Amino acid sequence: MQPITYRIPMRTRFRGITTRYGMVWRGPAGWGEWSPFLDYDGAELVPWLRAADEAAEQGWPEPVRDRVEVNATVPAVGPEQAAELAAGSGCRTAKIKVAEPGQTLADDLARVAAVRATLGPAGRIRVDANGGWSVEAAETALRQLDEHELEYAEQPCRTVEELAELRRRLRGSGILIAADESIRRAEDPYRVAELAAADIAVLKVQPLGGVRAALQIADRIGLPVVVSSALETSVGIRAGLALAAALPELPYACGLNTVPLLHDDLVDRPLIAAGGWLDVSGLEPAPDRLERLAAGADEQRFWQARLMQTRALIGT
Ligand SMILES: [Mg+2]
Repeated sequence: MQPITYRIPMRTRFRGITTRYGMVWRGPAGWGEWSPFLDYDGAELVPWLRAADEAAEQGWPEPVRDRVEVNATVPAVGPEQAAELAAGSGCRTAKIKVAEPGQTLADDLARVAAVRATLGPAGRIRVDANGGWSVEAAETALRQLDEHELEYAEQPCRTVEELAELRRRLRGSGILIAADESIRRAEDPYRVAELAAADIAVLKVQPLGGVRAALQIADRIGLPVVVSSALETSVGIRAGLALAAALPELPYACGLNTVPLLHDDLVDRPLIAAGGWLDVSGLEPAPDRLERLAAGADEQRFWQARLMQTRALIGT
């Protein structure tokens, strides 16, 4: 079938974008989503396409679990709202945004304390700084935030070198570091592992070239893996679920509960967590939704050209 370009507004601005675009199509094995962000270009788009082709043409390796635990996402809001969001999610694990520009460490501490009070001692709290701290600021902040018992800190600093330096400084503290933005291409996880820059690798199916490619990376880097989304519709999230379901070890909740960030979805039963879990099951976009969410003619042309250019790069 002809790939369809979708256009879905975001509920809130995320990663600087307010509208999500991408393509979906059905192949012999199922539905694939190709939704590289607009700031990706040229050869960077190839692994994203390999991931979509894998889903449509090949399908995925056998799952070893039939459901995947996911985390709630708590943005840089005030403590009461943060606690409400965490409690309302039904998730046992909350990922809390910290190091927001214009806010202070006191704001982060209040937010984390409120979520801890809500989730209780059995809850798990990870913070995500999206690279917003210097090494010094990260060390200071994390030692204080860890009084609320952090599961780990995601991308506290921007560069792999900074992560490695921070990790050296935090040795003996028990505070774990996860690399997220530092892993953007298939070769990046190896560099993170080589520089001992993180304890945990956040892996995403599309930028890494598919479920099999990501499984191979997970096998080789020798770090526990958290599977996250690239803000896909349920079609793309299903591929992330396939990865999470096929990993031999999955010690942490995954960042796959991001469909609620989108205003709409391509399927009638979106992959939104119930009680903190996503079921690994079949999925079929609804024709009326595909029609309703189809992008305009200019956008369709742009994405078709983008797809053809990327196809030409891999010669398929
Ligand atoms: Mg992150």
